Amino acid sequence: MDDYREYLRSIPKVDEVMKIKKLADLAEQGSRTEAVETVRSLTEKLRHQILRAAADTGTNGQKSGDSRAFCIPTAEELAEQAAALLEKQPGAHLRRVINATGVVLHTNLGRAVLPETAVRAAAEAAGFSSNLEYDLDNGTRGSRHAHVEEILKKITGAEAAMAVNNNAAAVLLCLSAIAAGKEVIVSRGEEVEIGGAFRVPDIMRQSGAILKEIGTTNRTKPEDYRDAVTENTGALLKVHKSNYRIVGFTRETTLQELKEIGQETGLPVLYDMGSGLFTDLGRFGIDEPVVSAALKAGADLVMFSGDKLLGGPQAGFAVGKKELIDRMKKHPLARAVRVDKMTIAAAEAVLRLYLDPEKAMREIPALRQITAGEDSLRARAEAFVKSLESSAGTKGWRFAAEPCEDKPGGGSAPAAVLKGYAVTVCPEEESSGSGNTPEQLEMALRQAALPVICRIAEGKLWLSFRTVRPEEEDRLLESLLEATARQ
Ligand SMILES: *Cc1c(COP(=O)(O)O)cnc(C)c1O
Repeated sequence: MDDYREYLRSIPKVDEVMKIKKLADLAEQGSRTEAVETVRSLTEKLRHQILRAAADTGTNGQKSGDSRAFCIPTAEELAEQAAALLEKQPGAHLRRVINATGVVLHTNLGRAVLPETAVRAAAEAAGFSSNLEYDLDNGTRGSRHAHVEEILKKITGAEAAMAVNNNAAAVLLCLSAIAAGKEVIVSRGEEVEIGGAFRVPDIMRQSGAILKEIGTTNRTKPEDYRDAVTENTGALLKVHKSNYRIVGFTRETTLQELKEIGQETGLPVLYDMGSGLFTDLGRFGIDEPVVSAALKAGADLVMFSGDKLLGGPQAGFAVGKKELIDRMKKHPLARAVRVDKMTIAAAEAVLRLYLDPEKAMREIPALRQITAGEDSLRARAEAFVKSLESSAGTKGWRFAAEPCEDKPGGGSAPAAVLKGYAVTVCPEEESSGSGNTPEQLEMALRQAALPVICRIAEGKLWLSFRTVRPEEEDRLLESLLEATARQ
């Protein structure tokens, strides 16, 4: 037994192992707790092995030779083992990736990328205390809505405004606060479903409002609304056909026409706009409505997303008549769908950029990417092909800059096609026997240290440069070299 005690005593102490430079450095970069836990699990394992052997020996009354002779690692060896384990551990589950899909607001890749000022504002709100609900002038409790309300009013011309978690929440809260128990009239052509299970009839049911469908899929006239109004009607709802268009023999009732009916009947006109635009992007092929224009045309309340064409954080904004916004703010559901401080900070920073529309176009990545011209994308793609061709380690692959078609994404402007440029990658003819395939390369790119998401078409990989940020190009090159080296 004495041997075992000796073995146990000779296991290096955790503190001692933690002092070894390599491990100390890793702990410094990552988490010290995790490093200590890793070392402790190694020493515990040794201890168990020794104790089990001791127990076995005790029962058998004899030692069974060499197999019981433990080789106790030194502190350096343990540090080495722990470091190897720590380095092998997968990093965070939510990871940064490079979006080379050409879909600007890619829902699966997190939609809008925030402008620098918004990133900084969100980080500051996260890392420090703030006046989130504190009035600095009076030293009293303040409102979290205050940070975005004034700017939203200024940009859109609305009487009042508020922010919630996302547009789905804005619509749910609005219907709950304004029309629960009442009928809400909606055109059959506007019973929208957005990817991810936002369906107008479902949201309506959830809010306690009763959906009153009118018209037909392709035609809904003002008379259809008028005929449907009863004393149990609570609101007229217009929903923007965000992700589809109806063409041909059509008739849509406009906001101006709804405003008239609203005035005749005393009913509020609510507008779920989907993607919120503050400036018209028609000249860039983006056929989407503008918030201020919708209010001017007659909507009493407009609701829209923060992270679609607006280019901000995930949020839902409601702007319009103060009386309606107040009802939403006071509704119990408001608390359940309220935005957090990081979102408010980021939203305020993005909205501030819109006070100067040209600055917004320049600094908001979503807008900059959507409006990027084919020529500038082509120049970047061609320069990138040159640097790829001059890099070692890309043998067996052929690179080219080719025109491609991109999309705004985010379920907005479904018909819009943005003419862009991509770097394409395909196996060289003579090496096609060597097993290089675009599918393998695509997979290797997804598994790179900084994963790259792209698409395959016509037997090639397409890396669209519209959604690759110029400052990301070095990292894209690294990931590509890493992936080709793996083939
Ligand atoms: C996108 C969209 C929504 C949902 O907005 P989120 O911000 O994604 O919750 C609701 N209505 C319409 C018309 C939309 O286009």
